[in-house]
Amino acid sequence: MEAIRTCVACRAREKRAGLRRVVVVNNEYVFDDKASMPGRGAWVHDSVECVQKAISRNTFARALRVAASVATHNLENRLKLIMDNS
Ligand SMILES: [Zn+2]
Repeated sequence: MEAIRTCVACRAREKRAGLRRVVVVNNEYVFDDKASMPGRGAWVHDSVECVQKAISRNTFARALRVAASVATHNLENRLKLIMDNS
């Protein structure tokens, strides 16, 4: 049985293989590509739409119960990477 997670941006339920895990490390959001880092994680589709939405609405802060001031540059870098590859 594969675990089901919810995307923080579009709220769709998805097998975890279809989502990317995001955690907070040293007050910044980090993509946990191996889904093995400790602590609370939030999940998002690896798509321009969902990552963009998550950044603009600050949904990671709510999902992870952290301050809105957590740095989003890794999320923005990821967004650029997805855009470049699409
Ligand atoms: Zn999504």
